[in-house]
Amino acid sequence: MADYPGAIDHNVPRSFMFNSNAHAAIVIHKTGGDATPEAIYNTFIASGNSVHYGVGTDGTIWQYVPESLGAGGNCCVEVGYDSFWQPYLSQYGNLNLCTLSIEHCDGSLTNSTPLTSAQQEASFKLVLYLANKYHIAPDHIKPHSSLDPISRAHCPGAYPFTDLINYVQNGGGSMTPVGWHDDGTTLTAPNGVGVRLGFRDYVLSHNWDFMNWPLAIEQGVTLLEASNPGLGGGDQQVFRWAMLGYTQLRGVFVEWLGVELATVRQQAITYHDLSKQLQAEVDSLKQQLATTQQPTGIDPTTVKDRLTAIGLAADTIHLLVTQPL
Ligand SMILES: [Zn+2]
Repeated sequence: MADYPGAIDHNVPRSFMFNSNAHAAIVIHKTGGDATPEAIYNTFIASGNSVHYGVGTDGTIWQYVPESLGAGGNCCVEVGYDSFWQPYLSQYGNLNLCTLSIEHCDGSLTNSTPLTSAQQEASFKLVLYLANKYHIAPDHIKPHSSLDPISRAHCPGAYPFTDLINYVQNGGGSMTPVGWHDDGTTLTAPNGVGVRLGFRDYVLSHNWDFMNWPLAIEQGVTLLEASNPGLGGGDQQVFRWAMLGYTQLRGVFVEWLGVELATVRQQAITYHDLSKQLQAEVDSLKQQLATTQQPTGIDPTTVKDRLTAIGLAADTIHLLVTQPL
């Protein structure tokens, strides 16, 4: 029976384990090649090494060593190791006697593959469970590279370590979506768009889907929802399939995106029809204007011709008048 309720027991031989564990710290590893918990197990059987838990890319967790005993993954430090370990080295000699260790499957030899969503969730929850169970503070969760900064510089490699610490610090209430980055102020999605302040807090604390990126940064709007004008103005950030709003009165809330979409679509149809109607009126007015502007006055050539004709006629009359009867 595994210690962690979410794990499956696959203990390595007892001779691979140390007789005690003081649970002072948790060490995070990545496999650098072993792609499944079973592959980790086979590597241990072949090498005599061990850790307590292995987390697969599908979130499956295998337990190789009971938590009450020391595993064989955190033995030795090398030049440049984190001074955090100094008192434990002095007290225990072998860090396996005071640490819990967790492997994470990564098929890449350089540990360059990001965790999958399922793997991250399983990992964070397991670490939180261990931290709570043994009262291990977040700053006592360490990467393998803190023991061996040269030979294990890439252990765990691509692992969201800061996010893990934030998660444990917040008691599991906060989770950076996979592939996003949080610097404590701005939560940045893979498309580079940031989420800040109350919207950031909301995303971190609501198991936000990692694909649900923000389309743009938050903005102040005079009308949050055309479908609910009573809400008035506020701050708003639109995501791929969510919309967060903020007013002083309500704080941060999820807006009714579907209702808003339906209203705005109807508005689009209405305005489209209206604009066609207006265009027709404009066309008609243009035509009227063009007609009005056409020259309706007297053509100078015609005037000249007429004057000439009148002149000729006058001459004729003059001849007729002056001629004797
Ligand atoms: Zn390691």
